[in-house]
Amino acid sequence: MTLNRRQVIAGLGGFALCGAGSGVFARTALQVGTSQVISLSDGNLVLPWSFFFEGLPEEKLTEILAKYDVPKDQLEPPCNLTLLRQEGRNVLFDAGSGSTFMPSAGEILNSLEAEGLSPEDITHVVFTHAHPDHLWGVLDDFDDPVFPDAELMIAQAEWDYWTDPNTVSTIGEERASFAVGAARRLAAVEDQISFFKDGDEIMSGVMAHATPGHTPGHMSFEIRDGKNAVMVVGDAIGNGHVAFERPAWASNSDQDPDLGAQTRLRLLDQLAADDISLLGFHLPQGGLGRVERDGETYRFVPEDA
Ligand SMILES: [Zn+2]
Repeated sequence: MTLNRRQVIAGLGGFALCGAGSGVFARTALQVGTSQVISLSDGNLVLPWSFFFEGLPEEKLTEILAKYDVPKDQLEPPCNLTLLRQEGRNVLFDAGSGSTFMPSAGEILNSLEAEGLSPEDITHVVFTHAHPDHLWGVLDDFDDPVFPDAELMIAQAEWDYWTDPNTVSTIGEERASFAVGAARRLAAVEDQISFFKDGDEIMSGVMAHATPGHTPGHMSFEIRDGKNAVMVVGDAIGNGHVAFERPAWASNSDQDPDLGAQTRLRLLDQLAADDISLLGFHLPQGGLGRVERDGETYRFVPEDA
């Protein structure tokens, strides 16, 4: 058996992660008509508290975090990729962090392997947005494409933003490395890329909806078969606690916090009113579940609960 350099790296990465005891193979799934929507873990992030909550009302925030058992010093949000399995298609929503963003993330190839899939089996990778934990897994340590046979699909608005040479100087110091990292990776995979926009049916049964604020071209995806639907919301609903309890609070984790809050409110209202399932990238317990409304607040009800 001959291994190319990509396979060698994927294999070594797998051993290293398993050896460190961090193998997280969380899996939850939902049948949508003839399709399966599966949540696969890419590991988790480790982020300072300020990244999410700087400037929010202290007393209420403390109460919410205590209710959800969230430590106040640092957050360790899970990263849930969505896999859509259909006849003839294996569609991955986002590519994960890869090996260079954080040691606690970048495990998607292990999760796919547990699903019986190799990177070559992925036919499409559809991006919600181009932040590191969603995009950087598109390249391996040799800068080769991790999903060589996949069509990579991204919103035109998101591509335009991250490939704009001005973005690195306008995005702010905290995220300048995100801009450099995104531009480099998008350029490297340009040959595999195709574009879509708000309202497009990007493939049969998958509709793109603009959900801006977290990033300018952030997109969510409605996977529908008749009455059954799942909305892949990416980071438009960015956590399972404050985003549900106080969705109107502007969050630092959104590049445009006010627009992010407007989008979150609209999306939560729609998901609860229409009883549409959702899969959130950083939501707990695999991120697959439903939204329940209680007056002005909401609750995430995980699928496996
Ligand atoms: Zn994210």
